[in-house]
This record gives sequence, C-alpha cells and structure tokens, in this order.
Amino acid sequence: MAKIFKFGPHLIPETQIFYKSPYCLGLVNLKPVVTGHVLVVTKRLAARFNDLTPEEATDMILSTQKISSVIEKHYKASSLTFTIQDGPEAGQTVPHVHMHIIPRRKDDYENNDDIYEDLDENKQRQHNIPMGADNEDRKPRSAADMAEEADRLRLLF
Ligand code: AMP
Repeated sequence: MAKIFKFGPHLIPETQIFYKSPYCLGLVNLKPVVTGHVLVVTKRLAARFNDLTPEEATDMILSTQKISSVIEKHYKASSLTFTIQDGPEAGQTVPHVHMHIIPRRKDDYENNDDIYEDLDENKQRQHNIPMGADNEDRKPRSAADMAEEADRLRLLF
C-alpha cells in the first residue's frame, strides 16, 4: 500500500514527494505562487520553528540549500525567495513547519515584494490581489500535475 505522509491536516501521497532526508521531505505545492514554488517540511509534525530539535532544524536548512540549488537551475531562475511563516499571525495556514522555496526571475513581479502578498492567502481573499504571473488563478493543482513535477524533480537528487 502506498505510504501517506501528513502535512498538518493534509494527507500527502508519495507521488507529491521528490526529496527525502533523515528529518525532512521536499513536496511539490498544491497552490504554488509561481511555477517551481516547493516546500521543505519536517517528517515529524511540529507546528512552530522553535519546536524543532537541533537535528531537525539543521536538516531543514541543509535540505533547503540542496533543494533550492536544484530548483533555481531547473526553473532557470536567477534568485530565490525563502520564507517560513511561523505562526498564524505571520500568515501560517498549515500548522506544520515548512520552508517555502520560490524561484525568482527579473520582472516576475511588478514590485518585488508583492510575492509576500501572494503568499498571504487571507489578503488575497480580502483585497483580490492579482496573483503571480505564472499562476494567475492559483486553483489547486491536480494530483497528476503534481506527480509529474515531483517525478521530474526526483531525478535531480
Ligand atoms: P503557509 O500559508 O505558509 O502555511 O503555507 C502553506 C503552503 O502549503 C501553501 O503554499 C499551500 O499552497 C501549501 N499547501 C496546502 N495544502 C497542501 C497540500 N495538500 N499539498 C501541498 N501543498 C499544500
């Protein structure tokens, strides 16, 4: 039977996972703000960054380095945005520690920091802020679409 991992309350099938380390996983995103926006999550369900053990925190940072270098090349980006929204008031919607890795390109957003508006799901709803150029409506992706991306990325590790 296929193994299912829990990301907060969400059930994540193996097909969405492209990277594994001792304490973390790399997941493709259900609603990326731009193409190539992926998540590094801890295998153990911990809500906040300071709940991580030293081993988990170290592994999360080292995994972020490895994954982000692959993501930047694969998506032909030239910069990266890293974000942890740590707690609900910081915009965290899934109470399970995760690092956002977002490939960035010149002129991908009219104002560079608008990416943080896109990461803020509540703000999008309240103010109807336009989404990133690559993903205009940010509808949840299909399982097949996510599996195809994860298959492609898995080969790069
Ligand atoms: P945050 O708002 O910082 O907690 O980020 C939550 C992230 O998890 C967003 O990028 C969502 O698109 C993503 N997300 C939510 N549910 C899933 C899921 N089932 N599979 C993959 N990513 C998800």
